[in-house]
Amino acid sequence: MIKDLFHKNRPVYSLEVFPPKKDTDVSVIYDALDQFKELHPNFISVTYGAGGTTSENTFAIASYIQNQCGIEALTHLTCAAIPDRLFLTNFLTNLYRNGIRNILGLRGDQPRGMSDEQFAARYYKHASDLIQDIKTTFPFSVAGACYPEVHQEASSLEEDIANLKIKVDTGVDFLITQLFYDNDTFFRFVDRARKAGITVPILPGLMPVTSAGQVKNIIELSGTKVPDSLMSQIKAYKDSPEDLKKAGLEFTKKQMEQLLEHGVDGIHLYSMNKVEIAKFILE
Ligand code: FAD
Repeated sequence: MIKDLFHKNRPVYSLEVFPPKKDTDVSVIYDALDQFKELHPNFISVTYGAGGTTSENTFAIASYIQNQCGIEALTHLTCAAIPDRLFLTNFLTNLYRNGIRNILGLRGDQPRGMSDEQFAARYYKHASDLIQDIKTTFPFSVAGACYPEVHQEASSLEEDIANLKIKVDTGVDFLITQLFYDNDTFFRFVDRARKAGITVPILPGLMPVTSAGQVKNIIELSGTKVPDSLMSQIKAYKDSPEDLKKAGLEFTKKQMEQLLEHGVDGIHLYSMNKVEIAKFILE
């Protein structure tokens, strides 16, 4: 179970993959996983489409990681995709009976095509409600998400951390952060979380910038701030994709080195199916 790794293998190194989009060759992800395996990460997490669109593939990929690669799999699951308690019990039973012992309990965002009313009427309101039921169904090692730059819907860091404390108290064993590029923001967040009585391990989440288009997506989807030092390199190399990629990877490498010097619990790399990125950073 992943929660035990923080005693035995600290710092813990993990990677994240996502199920390929519909009408894409699914073997691409299995080929990538076979190569990720050679990097010996402590665990690999698999994302879940907000409205449950990737449900079957998320399960199949997590099973492959756990049972074929012999690496701890962490399955993401979002409230927005759960219509009732039976759905949750069946999903968890499939995981548990297939040897998967780790789950990241999330609220998820409003899926495209779901009305405001439908989203507001979801069965589990917050990740903490979902995590409470996961914990009483099977003895999973449970992760939760957290936000060094504050979740977009929270009015302040204090409010967000107070809500995070409620979530952790329902049975979260460790936290993974939203991606960030400014380590000082992360250190401040951890300090505030510790002062609020949150004692579980907190894995910083890092995602190298490897293309100019990706920056726009990062800002739009997660609201993450890109520091001037990185932004100026992105601008300088806007016509040179290879140099831009190199600069983005170097930035993340330095970021990771500074975090490790500070004794962080580990590193979660948003590797997003890209073997080249995982290799460069982890090797
Ligand atoms: P919550 O913990 O429920 O928090 C959401 C908001 O509600 C916050 O503002 C919080 O302060 C507030 N809140 C929480 N609890 C309470 C409470 N009890 N009372 C009042 N307010 C409360 N999305 C996907 O669709 N699929 C994925 O696979 C996925 N993986 C992710 C992995 C990581 C590591 C991270 C950081 C995010 C991931 N997301 C994923 C995105 C995530 O679903 C969104 O960021 C979503 O908006 C919040 O999810 P949460 O679990 O943090 O929600």
